[in-house]
Order: sequence, then C-alpha cells, then structure tokens
Amino acid sequence: MSKNLDKYLYKNMDKEAGLAHVNHRTKIVATVGPACDSYDKLLELVKAGVNVFRLNFSHGSHEDKLSIIEHIRNINKTEPYNIAILGDLQGPKLRVGEIENNALEVKPGDILTFTNEKCIGNLEKIYVSYPNLAGDVILGNTIMIDDGKIEVKVSSIEANGDVKVMVTLGGILSSKKGINLPDTKISLPALTEKDLADLDFIIAQQCDWVALSFVRSVQDIVGLKKILQDNGSKTKIIAKIEKPEALLNIRDIIVESDGIMVARGDLGVELPVEQIPLIQKELIRKCIHRAKPVIVATQMMESMIDRVKPNRSEITDVANAVLEGADAVMLSGETATGQHPALVVSTMRKIIAEVEKKEYRYNREEDLKPQPHSPSFHSDAICYNACKISDDVGAKALIGMTQSGYTGFMLSSYRPSSPLYVFTKERTLVNQLSLSWGVRAFYYAEEDSLDDIIYDQIQILKERGFVNTGDVVVNTGSTPVDLHLPTNIIKLTKVD
Ligand code: ATP
Ligand code: MG
Ligand code: MG
Repeated sequence: MSKNLDKYLYKNMDKEAGLAHVNHRTKIVATVGPACDSYDKLLELVKAGVNVFRLNFSHGSHEDKLSIIEHIRNINKTEPYNIAILGDLQGPKLRVGEIENNALEVKPGDILTFTNEKCIGNLEKIYVSYPNLAGDVILGNTIMIDDGKIEVKVSSIEANGDVKVMVTLGGILSSKKGINLPDTKISLPALTEKDLADLDFIIAQQCDWVALSFVRSVQDIVGLKKILQDNGSKTKIIAKIEKPEALLNIRDIIVESDGIMVARGDLGVELPVEQIPLIQKELIRKCIHRAKPVIVATQMMESMIDRVKPNRSEITDVANAVLEGADAVMLSGETATGQHPALVVSTMRKIIAEVEKKEYRYNREEDLKPQPHSPSFHSDAICYNACKISDDVGAKALIGMTQSGYTGFMLSSYRPSSPLYVFTKERTLVNQLSLSWGVRAFYYAEEDSLDDIIYDQIQILKERGFVNTGDVVVNTGSTPVDLHLPTNIIKLTKVD
C-alpha cells in the first residue's frame, strides 16, 4: 500500500461476515419493534441480511427510538456494515387507542362505539385519535381497521361525538391499529403536530432517511424538504405512496422525492386491492427510470409473524418484487413484533439470492438509456456505459465515486451485473446508499490525483476481500479532481 489506508478498514474485522453481507443485491428493510430492539437482536438481523432499519413513529416512544438508534450506530462503528436508519412519520393516519389486554375479538353484528375520549378499548368503547370523526362520517360509511382486516359500517352518530358502528368483517383488534375511511374525505395536514415533533427528533438524531406517509401532492414533499433544508439536515426523503391522489401526481412526486415506498397496506384499503400489482410494477419502473430507490412494503412475509415457514404466495411475492427490479423489500410486523425476526430476514434473503442467481438482472429496457433532455445527460451516459463495459469484460467490481450521491444512485439504476462499490467522503451517504439496489458504499476522503484515488479504492476492496489479483475492475471518476465535476471518466484496471 502506498499510504496508510487503515482508517478505511475495520480493526479486527470479521472479513467473512463483511463479505457475506449483501450477497443479495435487492436490499432488505426491517421494521424495529419490541421483538428485535436489543443490540444483540439487531446485530443478529443485520447478519441475517438487513440493510436498513425502519423506525415506525406510529409506535413506541422517542426514548425507545433513541436506544435503538444508538445500537445501530454502534453496530456500524464496530462491525463492517453501514446500516441505514429510516424514520417513518405516521402522517395523517387515524388509529384506535390502547386495547384491553391488547386483543379484542369482534364478530359480525357486534355494535362498537368509537369515542374521542381517551380510554382503554373494549366492547363498550374504543378510542379513536380523530376529534372530528363524528363530523366527517355519514351513516353507512365503511371504516376499515388494521389494513382492512376488520370492517365496520357507521350505524349511528351521537350528539356527544361518539360514532356507533356495526362489525361486518370480524377479527381480533389490538392496540394502535390504523383506521381508513375510504368513503370519507379527511381534513388533516400532511404533517400533523405529532409528525413535526417526530421530525425534530429525526433531524436531531440525523436519521439517514425520513418517510412521509399519505403523500397526496408534490407540495407535501416540498414542505418537508424546506423544513429539512432550514435545519441544515442531510436526511433524504421517501414518499410513501398509499393514496389515490398521489398516483395522479406521481411523476412530480418521484422527481421531488429521493425515493418511493409502495405502501401496499393502506394503498390496498384506499383503492380496490386488485389494482395493487400493476400499480407496484408501474411505480418500480418509473423509479428506476429516474434513478430513485423504490421499496416494496407490507405483508411480504406476514404469515411468518407466528410461523417458521412462509406461504408459497409470499415467496412468489418477494421473488416478483426482485424480478420487477425493486431496490428493496420491506418487513413490518414480521420483525417488529413477530416470533422469528431473524428467521424471517434470512428466509427473505434466501428467496432474493435464489432469484438473483439466475435472473439477477432486471430486464433493462431501451428506455433506460441516458436521456438527452436530462440535465445530467453526459454523466448519465458515462454511468450507463461503465455498466455496459463492466458487463462486457466480466468485471469483478464496478467502482463509482460520488459527492452528491447522484452517481451512486445512477450506477445502481442501470442494475449492473458486476458487483457495485461506491466511495464517498459524505458519511451520511455511506449509509443512505444502503437502500439502493446492489450498492455497497465506503467512506473515502483523500483528494489526490485520480490515479492515486483509484489505486486506493482498489486496495481497500482488495484488503476487504472483495477483489483479488488478476481481477478486472471498472472505475468511474471525475477529473480534474479539484474541480469536483460530475462523473466524466471510465477506467479499466487489472488488479496487481
Ligand atoms: P404503518 O401504517 O405506518 O405501516 P402499522 O401500524 O401498519 O403502520 P407497521 O410498522 O407496518 O405498522 O407494522 C408493525 C406492526 O408491529 C404493527 O402491527 C404494530 O402494531 C406492531 N408494533 C408494536 N410496537 C411497535 C413498534 N415499537 N414499532 C413498530 N411496530 C410495532
Ligand atoms: Mg403497515
Ligand atoms: Mg402506512
């Protein structure tokens, strides 16, 4: 080594663990909850294949979140991983309150009373977190609970603001489950008071990503972006697509956001469920086209909440998301409150790895070619062709450099067949890129000649076991180095 690169390597690193992690190119997002919130459990999940942890601000306290964030940061410090943290804001979602013993069986024909006075819910009364419920609903309106698992109809509206409903689809109701009113227009802002307080916390803790729920228009994203900018925050934005209105404005929402989540839970309640598969396909295609990471979420391995094997349909669902080219697949209750969080993750990883073994390349279409009207057309063309060259020569590594993140997201969007490594001096990007398809990111901050930089990067990959003597690798970069121009160089190297 020409210079000391020790600070870019991990002391006492478990090389095998580092190598094994992300031998799946489609990433895994796991929601943290009581079933996995200790340091040891979180590390176990990471070793099983998690790339991004999601903290759902609909549940738990800031205090809980703080200790989870510390654990994840400690894992990143002491182990060879860069796990990203995604803070998920509740948004304008209505929920029931706490339920007695966290389980209430409701049967068709039962009459329940929704009230806006806080109480522990039972067959008599159930708290709903929306003071204007009685004002907004009309008789006969359908109300869906827990992503539509339970359905009720409004049977009477009381003068004191209580709403009586009759159960039409029964089930077990537990605490804090979400409520949707598909027939009713709810007048709540994109960021509620709770969201603003949670956002303060997310900014202060420098979470890597923040997800905005129930995005309706591009203005929702613009508003959130302004708050982040005013606070000098580098947190990137995921728009959760779960409202019909969002689909009408989808192009602008994708352009304005840093990533998208296909939030199938609420989407399937707000729209006829049978529309979800094609919407998912279309959203993924649009996001790849714009080089924005896209997450497929909800019920991917739901049956594993209490079982040790997934349903066949769930296996196919995960496989299809991989084939469609999603950047990441997500686990919710499976890891947050399930019986076998680590087993779910490793099962999901196995499905992904198996599909990628044979069909790992997203079927690149002609329309993914660099677009002349794009403001970054020239650097897009470099990225596109670097992917092609690395594919043609069977490169053992495609190595990119990025400052804004753009080259990292761009290289990833072409879904190259060679393993993709991205170097950046922006520490937040190292974690943020964990969400992107196929990217393994590294911190690197030297400013030498481009030759030296490329040499160093290859050495770091060699030290960590990712490439070996004799391998061919392809680098992208930008010269003159001190001008920090967009990517403008492709270099092919045979490793010494
Ligand atoms: P969203 O609409 O944001 O998806 P959700 O209520 O569906 O919210 P998920 O994160 O999708 O929540 O699923 C997690 C499941 O785990 C939920 O059923 C939730 O009730 C349960 N849970 C309990 N405690 C927590 C926690 N601290 N964090 C996350 N989920 C929790
Ligand atoms: Mg959910
Ligand atoms: Mg949701």
